[in-house]
Amino acid sequence: MAHEEPLNGFTGFNRKKSSFQYSRSAEASSPHGEVPFDLEKLDEMPSSGRRWAWVEIDLSAIRNNVLEAKRRLRPGCRLMAVVKADAYGHGAVRVARTALNSGADELAVATVDEGVELRKAGIHAPILVLAEPPASSIPLLLGYHIMPAVYTPEFALAYAEMADAHGMKAPFHLAVNTGMNRIGVRAEEIIDFERTVSFHRALEQVGTFTHFATADMPENIDFTIQVHRFTEAIDALRVAGIDPGTVHAANSAALLRYPQTHFDMARLGISLYGFHPCNETRGTVNLKPAMSVYARITECKQVPMSEGVSYGLNYRSTGSVKICTLPIGYADGLNRALSSRVNFILDGTYVPQVGNICMDQCMFEVDMRTYGTRRRLDPQIGDVVTVVGQQGDAVTTITEMAYTLHTIEHELAIAFSHRLPRVYV
Ligand SMILES: *Cc1c(COP(=O)(O)O)cnc(C)c1O
Repeated sequence: MAHEEPLNGFTGFNRKKSSFQYSRSAEASSPHGEVPFDLEKLDEMPSSGRRWAWVEIDLSAIRNNVLEAKRRLRPGCRLMAVVKADAYGHGAVRVARTALNSGADELAVATVDEGVELRKAGIHAPILVLAEPPASSIPLLLGYHIMPAVYTPEFALAYAEMADAHGMKAPFHLAVNTGMNRIGVRAEEIIDFERTVSFHRALEQVGTFTHFATADMPENIDFTIQVHRFTEAIDALRVAGIDPGTVHAANSAALLRYPQTHFDMARLGISLYGFHPCNETRGTVNLKPAMSVYARITECKQVPMSEGVSYGLNYRSTGSVKICTLPIGYADGLNRALSSRVNFILDGTYVPQVGNICMDQCMFEVDMRTYGTRRRLDPQIGDVVTVVGQQGDAVTTITEMAYTLHTIEHELAIAFSHRLPRVYV
């Protein structure tokens, strides 16, 4: 038969036993048999014992950022903590709890599942999904008391019908498109929209909101136009006798820059995590980044002069350096495009990452020459290296990385959470 007689005739290395046996005794246990370890106990092994790379989240920084935002809100204005995308990579449940304990009033997520996760963790604050989910998810919305953003009559009516059938209300926030053209009923069409759905007794408009496209840019007319359209839309609702509920528009940038956009509530996203939404807010508010990223050295060696390092061997050793390896790579969010363009911190000193960043590992260089008064580093396996964060005067930031990659901090912060354990302090 073909599978016994390979075409090339090679039958070598054909082992009699089909697989390796861990047991040293003759009566070997089956692969699924007893092992001398309590596997349930092993589940409790802390992440720091499993992997030498991790993300640290400073919850006191989250608290600080909530308080800083609240200090700038107009009196009586509510604060909505935006914890979508697993709280921008920081961990939705822990961040949500901290934000609520620090004075946030409501939560926003992007998907129904993100809302369900918060409810399952025992969080009772109002939760808004910032977009209209598929109608098939309506039982989840009602079952877990998660409010949708609404902007199509089809969804609104399906939502109302199901709520009504179960003797429930169907609370929602109306999304208004005032110029960003992502989602929402166009501002001039909201009265028509309301007329289309208003007959349904279960629907309850608990909020009305819009989103700005350019609040983080230098002062611009497009922003002013959006504010104007939104204000007019809210006025039109009131004139028509429709209660818009909680009116909200501001994201982090508008919250920090434009008090006239606070209305009844503001939505704090990126600045909840300690990032400035734009250069204009630097120096005006004391935000603290909550995320740091660390790894321990897993290998450290002298590499002979002119030998290469990592895929492609683009980097060549000068001979007077040690090359250290960290168990963190682009699968952990250390973007491959940062290869050779980022510094880490070892013992309070910047060390340049060298060679291509791999999927699970990357390397950095330590200059071992002694000259002047320069302090010589002595890297050892197990030493902690700061990938993102501060050590003494040395600091590496997601903001810098975002600048290097021509992107925004949101994208990089979210990426760091994928596979790295998160440690809360
Ligand atoms: C993501 C998001 C926010 C938060 O924006 P930041 O700029 O991160 O503060 C607010 N509102 C809506 C509708 C969003 O999608």
